Amino acid sequence: MPNSRLGKRSADVIVIGGGVMGCASAYRLSAEGLSVIVLERDEICAGASGRNAGGVRQSARDVRELPLAIYAVKNIWPTLGEELGVDTEYVQKGNLRLGRTEAHLEKLRMSVTENTEAGLDLLMVTGTEAREICPYMSEEVIGASWCPTDGYANPLLTTFGYYRRALDNKAIFITGITVTGLGKAGGALRKVYTDDGVFEADRVVLCAGYHSRAIANTVGIDIPVEREDEEVFVTEQLPPMFDQVLGTADADFYGHRTKHGSFLLGGVSGLQHFTSNHDGHPADAYTAPSLSRAIIGFFPVFADVKIIRSWSGHFDACADGVPVISNVEEVPGLTIACAFTGHGFGISPAVSLAIKELVTVGESRAIDVSELRYDRFRAKQ
Ligand SMILES: Cc1cc2nc3c(=O)[nH]c(=O)nc-3n(C[C@H](O)[C@H](O)[C@H](O)COP(=O)(O)OP(=O)(O)OC[C@H]3O[C@@H](n4cnc5c(N)ncnc54)[C@H](O)[C@@H]3O)c2cc1C
Repeated sequence: MPNSRLGKRSADVIVIGGGVMGCASAYRLSAEGLSVIVLERDEICAGASGRNAGGVRQSARDVRELPLAIYAVKNIWPTLGEELGVDTEYVQKGNLRLGRTEAHLEKLRMSVTENTEAGLDLLMVTGTEAREICPYMSEEVIGASWCPTDGYANPLLTTFGYYRRALDNKAIFITGITVTGLGKAGGALRKVYTDDGVFEADRVVLCAGYHSRAIANTVGIDIPVEREDEEVFVTEQLPPMFDQVLGTADADFYGHRTKHGSFLLGGVSGLQHFTSNHDGHPADAYTAPSLSRAIIGFFPVFADVKIIRSWSGHFDACADGVPVISNVEEVPGLTIACAFTGHGFGISPAVSLAIKELVTVGESRAIDVSELRYDRFRAKQ
C-alpha cells in the first residue's frame, strides 16, 4: 500500500538520485517552469556528492568530456555562488600535476598535447618552475603540467545550494525511497516503480550513481558501470601554504587546502577491491598509510602533519572512463546521466545544463556531449 506521506505522485519530470547531478538538474528544470519530483534512496547528498574532494579540474580529462569541464569553468563556476545564494568556496588558483620520472613526464606531455589541442589552456613546466608556483614540493619533482584555470569548491555547500534553489522553484524532494524499476506506457517511459508505490512522469532523469545500471536494466538498457571506492582524509588545520590543486601523473593522490585550513587529500590504495565489498562506507586500513607515503614523497613538509579524520565514498566507474549523458532512443522519455568515474563534481554545473536541454529540447546545444551517448560501447571482437 503506497504511503500517504508522499502526496503528489506525478510530475513533468522525475529525477532519480539526490546527489549533485539530481539537485542541479532539479534546479534547472524547475527554473523552466516544469514540475519536478526527486526520488532519493537515502538523504540528499549522501552519496559521492557528499564525500568527494571538491576538485574542479579540466586538465587531464578525456577529450570527450573536456567541453563540459571547460564550459563549467568559463561560464558557470565563477558566478555559481551568486546564482545559488551560497558561498561555494570556489577557488581558482590552478592545478599542478606532478612527475618524478621520465615515464611520468611522458604521460603528462601526452595529456597536455591532447588537452591543448582540444582548447584547454594547459602547459608543461619544469621542476624548478613548478616549485616557483608551489615552493613546498620535493626536489625530486622534475616536471609538471600546469593548468592555471583549474581549482576547487565545496561539494556539500554546492549540492545543498542547488537543492535549496530547486525547493524555491517548488521542486519536490522525497528521501528514503528506493526506485526499483522503470516502466513504459504507449511505447514511452511513464512509470517509476519504488519500494513505496508507483510514480508517473513524462520525462525521467536517471542519475543514481552506480545504481543507475540496475535501474536502466529494467527497460533493457545496460551501461557498463561498476562501483569503485575511494578515500579522502583531512589533515589538522595548517598555516596557509599554497592554494593550488595537486595531483600526480600516476594519480597516487590528489588534494588541496580548504578554506578553514585543513588539507583534503584523496586517492586509493590499490587494494580497495579486496577490502570493501559491501555497501557501507568503510575506510580501510591500507589507504591512509598508502596515501601518506605518496604525499610525503612529493611533499616532505607533510611528514609530521596529523590526519584528523578520513572517509570513503563510492563512485560509478565506467568501462571507458567517461560519463554517459544522453537521451535513450529505445526508451523515449529517459535521460541518463551517470558513470562519472570519480570526477563528476567539477563538471556538474555544465552536466545539469546539458540535462536540461536534453529534456526540454531533445539535444544538448550549449555543450557538445555527442561523444557521451549511452550506445557508444562496443565489445572488442
Ligand atoms: C572519495 C571521492 C572523491 C572524489 N573527488 C572528486 C573530485 O575531487 N572532483 C570531482 O569532480 N569529482 C570527485 N568525485 C566524484 C564525484 O563525487 C561524483 O562524480 C559526483 O558526486 C556524482 O554525482 P551524482 O549525483 O551522479 O552521484 P551521487 O552523489 O552518488 O548521487 C546518486 C544518488 O542516487 C541515490 N540512489 C542510488 N540508488 C537509488 C535508487 N534505487 N533510488 C533512489 N535513489 C537512489 C544515492 O543514494 C545517491 O544519493 C569523487 C568521488 C569520491 C567517492
